[in-house]
Amino acid sequence: MLQTELHRHLDVSLRSSTILEVAIARGLLAQSTSLASFEEQLYIRKPLESLTAVLAMFTLFQKVLATPAILERVAFEALEDCYREGTRRVEFRFSPSFCGEFSGLSWDEILSSFERGLERGVRSYPDMQWGLICIATRDYGVESVDETMEFFLQNQARFVGCDLAGNEQNFPCRLFENSFKGVRAAGAKITIHAGEAVGPENIWEAIELLGASRIGHGIAAIQDPKLMAHLRERSICLEVCPTSNWLTKCVPTLEAHPLPALLRAGVPVCINTDDPGIFGKTLPQEIEVCRLMLGMSEGEIEKCFEYAVKSSFLS
Ligand SMILES: [Zn+2]
Repeated sequence: MLQTELHRHLDVSLRSSTILEVAIARGLLAQSTSLASFEEQLYIRKPLESLTAVLAMFTLFQKVLATPAILERVAFEALEDCYREGTRRVEFRFSPSFCGEFSGLSWDEILSSFERGLERGVRSYPDMQWGLICIATRDYGVESVDETMEFFLQNQARFVGCDLAGNEQNFPCRLFENSFKGVRAAGAKITIHAGEAVGPENIWEAIELLGASRIGHGIAAIQDPKLMAHLRERSICLEVCPTSNWLTKCVPTLEAHPLPALLRAGVPVCINTDDPGIFGKTLPQEIEVCRLMLGMSEGEIEKCFEYAVKSSFLS
């Protein structure tokens, strides 16, 4: 089994120790803050009121991602963390507009810095494969999504695919149909965050209006047998993130998570961490959750990784 992770946000994969060190150095946190007390504030351990509440916690990450050197370090450490977790193929994603909001760094500087960190990582861990996915953030509106897709197209060779993320309740996929026309025409590989906090209609829109060949989360598919058949027939893989879905209250309990039911219905699914920087979970811990809380067998977990390998945007 090639341990492969397809859904991990690079800009929310920072080590707690790195955030603390940088935040103190930049005057964002008091000098006296201990790592234990910081982790207490940082990690979400029990379900939050809503996805919006989680998104609000991201501001500290944005303020820490302040210079090219920090971005390079963060990317190197993220790759190293994945390697130590046993992963050998990883697709990291990041949102240029999210990363640049406070730093004022150009999107090209942000991309180049992340690439430098990942390339340095691969020199230390040569059997590691990585790719980058460019995220357009819904919450910044159509104009910003257009701009991000333009940036993606200008740098298409440096990315393995593109994505749309953020608040899907207020910004459904249909708002961005025009924004995705160019990337679809260019034959780009597209994954879309959909069916995480809202129903299956947003997954249909992601596939039919935006051209998604993978779906971020997509757990709402369980409510729509026709959609499940469509995902199965078209081999559209759902990048499932169990702990994330529980902590953002997209599922009532981990035991009630639809991942095993989707898998048993033949829907391609894979296991991912989403935002290890705030959920505090590694991929092996996520696998453990699938085994112990979701009642998945060893064979079923392996099947998820087979789907991840098959659905990877990395050639
Ligand atoms: Zn995500």
